[in-house]
Amino acid sequence: MKQAKNWSGLGRAARLAAFSFLAALSAMGGVAAPPLSAAEVPVAQDARVAGDAKRTRFVADLTAAVPVRAFTLADPYRVIIDMPEVRFDVPPERGEEGRGLVSAFRYGLFAPGKSRVVLDAVSPVIVDRAFVLPPQDGQPARLVVDLLSTDENTFRQRLAMASAGPRWGKPAEAEKAPPIEVEQAVGPREGVRPLVVIDPGHGGIDGGAVGPSGTLEKDIVLAFSRKLKEALEKEGRYDVLLTRDQDIYVPLGERMRMAREKRAALFVSVHADSFSEDDVHGATIYTLSERASDAEAAALAAKENRSDIVAGLDLPEDSDAVASILVDLVRRETKNLSVLAAKYMVEELGEAVRLNKNPHRFAGFKVLKAPDVPSVLLELGYLSNGEDERKLTSPEWHEKVANAVAAAKHRFLSPQFAERLR
Ligand SMILES: [Zn+2]
Repeated sequence: MKQAKNWSGLGRAARLAAFSFLAALSAMGGVAAPPLSAAEVPVAQDARVAGDAKRTRFVADLTAAVPVRAFTLADPYRVIIDMPEVRFDVPPERGEEGRGLVSAFRYGLFAPGKSRVVLDAVSPVIVDRAFVLPPQDGQPARLVVDLLSTDENTFRQRLAMASAGPRWGKPAEAEKAPPIEVEQAVGPREGVRPLVVIDPGHGGIDGGAVGPSGTLEKDIVLAFSRKLKEALEKEGRYDVLLTRDQDIYVPLGERMRMAREKRAALFVSVHADSFSEDDVHGATIYTLSERASDAEAAALAAKENRSDIVAGLDLPEDSDAVASILVDLVRRETKNLSVLAAKYMVEELGEAVRLNKNPHRFAGFKVLKAPDVPSVLLELGYLSNGEDERKLTSPEWHEKVANAVAAAKHRFLSPQFAERLR
């Protein structure tokens, strides 16, 4: 009994640590934003783009004025507008209605207490003005960002100037990949319950795929991940941590790092994507490989890896400087374990639901790159497929799949831990 108490204490510690990670992420930003109650958070009621290929204006109607800052990013051309937390109550199709220099835009929570709008630009632009008009004469407050078309050189010069100072979205020290320590790379924590990290994909500003009837991938995967956590915790044998438990964006590298820092026994990233051909269907399990198993897997990995770009993050490619034989050995062991976890998932899921015709595939998913944590990516189904979309929104289906995945985890974790704790 005493032991059980300690264990649950550790579970809490892990959860608290995850929370302080989010707080640290929040502290990275330049604007201190005290937490607001839901009633106090300003609401964006509408947003639109007007103008032409020379000059384009983005406008959002707000229930209260907020401070904003806007800057540009390259590759691809984007304009980032940062502000304290705002609730977006904007008609969902608005973001697709591009005009002039803006092809599309999206918005959402970017970090605790911070919201972000990302405008996709069709060509190099500069931010001419960015300001917020207070509400007056019965009109809502108005956020206005004016963009001007520019040439590539001017665009790059402005970028260089902007990146000289601190700004949101710029990788802080904590964002850089920590060196891989071999001592740390010995696998799960000893003497405590194994930790499973579940990673609901996307979130906040990054909505992920959209189904024919408007279902968002980020909502589906969070609902499912909560079910999976429940199913795993029922047994009382594991600690379970979600990389996000709200509608918030978390950078890909941070998701992976959470699993590494907590020395997770297994990392499961959950997605539900779309594919251009709507007859593609069924659940698929992916593991990491530099060479993709097929073109479809490669395309999916490329899409998932764009998550940070979608959210307006300007990160350098992850530097993979460590190349020791020991790390290679650990990597190989991790890879084998990941493949084993995927195999069990295919078997258990195959009993419960319809699988993709090729249920285990591999590709270069960024989120699966931890060298020392076995990692799999579960694609629940394809939102682009009508039948899959219906299932993906059904709580009963979620429960069935969560139980099957939990069964696979038991098979994966039991023998491994018996051996490791000897
Ligand atoms: Zn996804």
